Amino acid sequence: MRILVFNAGSSSLKFGLYDIAGTETLRVKGGFDRFHDGSCDLKLTVDGAHHRLRAPHGDLAAAIAAVPGILAAQGIDGINAIGHRIAHGGALFDKPAVLDTSTLARVEQLTPLAPLHNPANLAGVALARQVWPDLPQVGVFDTSFHLSAPEFSTTYAVPQAWRDAGLRRFGFHGTSHKYVGLRAAEVIGQPLDRLQIVSCHLGNGASVCAINRGRSMDSSMGLTPLEGLVMGTRSGDVDPGAFGFLSRRLGLTIEEIESALYTDSGLKALTGSPDMRDAEDRAAQGDTAAQLAIEIYAYRARKYIGAYAAAMGGIDALVFTGGIGENSASMRRRICDGLEFMGVTLDIDRNQRVDLADRAAPELQSWGSRVRVIVTETQEQLQIARETATALAVMRPARLVLPVAVSARHVHLCQEHVEALFGPGATLTPEFPLRQPGNFAAHQKVTIEGPKGALHQVRILGPTRSRTQIEVSRTDTFALGVEAPVRLSGDLDATPKIRLKGPAGSIETDGLIIAARHIHMHPDDAERWGVADREEVEVRVTGTGRGMTFSGVIVRVQPTAFTEMHIDTDEANAAGISGGAEGALITAD
Ligand code: ADP
Repeated sequence: MRILVFNAGSSSLKFGLYDIAGTETLRVKGGFDRFHDGSCDLKLTVDGAHHRLRAPHGDLAAAIAAVPGILAAQGIDGINAIGHRIAHGGALFDKPAVLDTSTLARVEQLTPLAPLHNPANLAGVALARQVWPDLPQVGVFDTSFHLSAPEFSTTYAVPQAWRDAGLRRFGFHGTSHKYVGLRAAEVIGQPLDRLQIVSCHLGNGASVCAINRGRSMDSSMGLTPLEGLVMGTRSGDVDPGAFGFLSRRLGLTIEEIESALYTDSGLKALTGSPDMRDAEDRAAQGDTAAQLAIEIYAYRARKYIGAYAAAMGGIDALVFTGGIGENSASMRRRICDGLEFMGVTLDIDRNQRVDLADRAAPELQSWGSRVRVIVTETQEQLQIARETATALAVMRPARLVLPVAVSARHVHLCQEHVEALFGPGATLTPEFPLRQPGNFAAHQKVTIEGPKGALHQVRILGPTRSRTQIEVSRTDTFALGVEAPVRLSGDLDATPKIRLKGPAGSIETDGLIIAARHIHMHPDDAERWGVADREEVEVRVTGTGRGMTFSGVIVRVQPTAFTEMHIDTDEANAAGISGGAEGALITAD
């Protein structure tokens, strides 16, 4: 698929042309800026060669209209789709969306959340629709990746009326963090959903993201791109009490304070220049203001990295990207120095010799470092092209119906724990078989005991497994008084500990999870329906009092599976299901 990507700003336009089909090839990329008196600066990269010229395009409309000619000059035609970067998707867009009239109306409603960025992005969409009226146009949102973050990381502790008005944390740079996470996973050679990564995007705008097993769990930017790190011209974290203080002390208005926090703060306020290269040069010449700015910058970044490592219970990799993350060996060094306590040890020579040509993503940790330190160029346009291609991938036909079963809280035990709870030599006694072949509900039951309370008479499911696993609902976690992550069965690393009590003894074990909603699927059904192992699908549950659509349902293709979807009791209650129901896989046609 040949995809043209646009990132339209208020006074600039970037574009890239990608062929995405198994391999990913950048054919041409370019940027127009400094529109003035009917002309602009144009940078073009073709076959790895860079060109700069002053071009006769006076505004965004003229720049977009010039793109077909630029592509034709390279012998490129036959574009299949256009992908647009859209800054803010609010809580509405958790994935890319085809930009038809009704979607565009919904994006427009989000303008108050991103008054500077969304209107420029939408102007780009409107102009591209004029130039290519017959091509599908897809919006890829900077915020979507972060919509997976749990409520406790996205909720501000402010009055309900403010939250009802939409005040919450979103996070930005999502496309970059996702790309960087995927690239790091490639380098490490493990799937992203097995890794805990802190991604540091350090450019003019800067943010840190906690990528917990493939999903954004937290990001340093919040409602707006102001929160978090020190940036080129943005302040990052400031006590919100500053508004009252500055209004009383200096008589400033809200608009004046807000504008200064966006455009006259950060490195610019601390050093006089928004550019890290200037700060580093001046600091080296003895400028104490620049020295302090660099220390503040590194300290803030290090604090966030430590916080996110704690939030995820440890990390496998720390990844740097963005102009500063990619190019400043000394800033990477300052940020990593002091993180040895959590397993980050930088190799000084490797850090000094970074070469990112040909999409390289070198590792900078020293031998024996528990955590990998990786640098990679961010490729937001490539990620937008990928997501545009995925959004438009051939839609599946036919309505696919499968049974939905409700899993009450239960426990899987390893043999050692069976004996610890029920006495030496004890084995599980089957009481009745379950629908998944070979599985049974055991006669024996246990008590799960947490710091707040206990759940009694909890069913054990057999046969025994290599590792004990306790599956509860979110409501149960409050009854127990512990937090539990949403995980697929068997994915038990870094899960909380809990006490189990049986008639012969008690044990403390990790393995407490809220089971991710999933479908056990026989390979024949997977093939018939065109879904793959670990793919996430949507299922509309029908035949119940209320009806409900579940998204993010993970397909598990297993050779002996009886095809069936499993949800927990909270999910069943929300959908008004008791016993069982039917679900239909939703296809986009
Ligand atoms: P944007 O967020 O606008 O895409 P970039 O990712 O290009 O910005 O990052 C720009 C920042 O990177 C600037 O602060 C610039 O000074 C910094 N930078 C670029 N090269 C270097 C370098 N060699 N050393 C230190 N900082 C650098």
